[in-house]
Amino acid sequence: MIVVKLKKDRERSLIRKHPWVFSGAINSVKGEPKNGETVKVISNDGKFLCWAAYSAKSQISLRAWSFNENETIDENFFYKQIDNALLYREQFINSPDSNSYRLINAESDGLPGIIVDIYDRFVVCQFLSAGAEQWKSTIVKILVEKINPLGIYERSDVDVREKEGLKLESGVLFGETPPEILEIIENGNKFLIDIINGHKSGFYLDQKINRKLLADYSKDKEVLNCFSFSGGFTLYALRAGALKVINVDSSKDALMLAEKNILSNGFKNDQFENVEDDVFKYLRKLRDSNRKFDIIILDPPKFAESFNQIEKASRGYKDINLLAFKLLKPNGVLFTFSCSGHISVDLFNKIIADAALDSGRKVNVISYLTQSPDHTISTNFPESLYLKGLICSAQ
Ligand code: SAH
Repeated sequence: MIVVKLKKDRERSLIRKHPWVFSGAINSVKGEPKNGETVKVISNDGKFLCWAAYSAKSQISLRAWSFNENETIDENFFYKQIDNALLYREQFINSPDSNSYRLINAESDGLPGIIVDIYDRFVVCQFLSAGAEQWKSTIVKILVEKINPLGIYERSDVDVREKEGLKLESGVLFGETPPEILEIIENGNKFLIDIINGHKSGFYLDQKINRKLLADYSKDKEVLNCFSFSGGFTLYALRAGALKVINVDSSKDALMLAEKNILSNGFKNDQFENVEDDVFKYLRKLRDSNRKFDIIILDPPKFAESFNQIEKASRGYKDINLLAFKLLKPNGVLFTFSCSGHISVDLFNKIIADAALDSGRKVNVISYLTQSPDHTISTNFPESLYLKGLICSAQ
């Protein structure tokens, strides 16, 4: 068995059950672990810390599978972890009007590097670390047994795989190929999703709880949905009786999908407008033409991909939020988000406060928001909280 010994005093995060060990914390490796192999991790004074997957290439050299010395990392272990992930979700996934959710959220479900989304009868997986890759066929076997899907599709075509010394991969792992466009249901809204070529694994499931909140504010309102993608927020607003929604996105494909979604849910052409533009520019055009809205949604892509982008990202968030506050009618409502893990909750709140101040509006925070609970936030893995949002009212 391969044993990895840490440097003195470098065991603290593992003792708090944080699952990562960076390469600089390693003192010695006894044996020659293969990429992704399970190793035993001990402290400098020889105490057991965890069983972990070894990543030969990554800066994160070890990702803990289990902190229990008596555990064996085998098929049975993965059964238990997937069972736990299902049990946690049972309280909020069993609704007749939704059929899609995230089943496994990697580290925060005790399965580092493994992401599994359920889209009706199809499963979409990502294996993002060497350890995850090692257990791919086992995970697929268990998912077939537990979920009984029509097909399992891999979308491991993401750059982080390269850091792990893994090739980008996508394709069918089990059963049928998903249809080019699959229809799913979220809180009674039908959405067309593109599993094979779409963003992420096809749909932003993490905004489900927040979309639902938008419905409470939308009746008889004029809504501006910025970074609208396939119209997630738009459908909830229209169903709740919004007068009109403007979708803004720089992607023509996303807007086309949004249009199909809106029409297939029974709404009419005069209830929405699609604008293919850069949100930074379009908000300025609206400001210059003095348009005002009852509700504005800002759900941009990740502005900060790394620590050294935090400052630039902060300026981006401040810019769009400042413009949005100015475009709101009196007592208008802003739903604003950041999905950049590197932007902390505190920093995001501060950016919004600065934007509010500079806009000259008196802004109240109605609610603090985060990701839907199937995108598990684990107390021993604070990095799992990435989506932050606020509902604000501007007087
Ligand atoms: N709110 C959406 C998810 C948004 S994802 C939902 O609930 O499903 C981010 C979207 O922003 C993508 O569709 C992307 O095409 C779009 N985007 C990225 N940069 C943009 C920009 N500068 N201007 C307009 N749209 C942009």
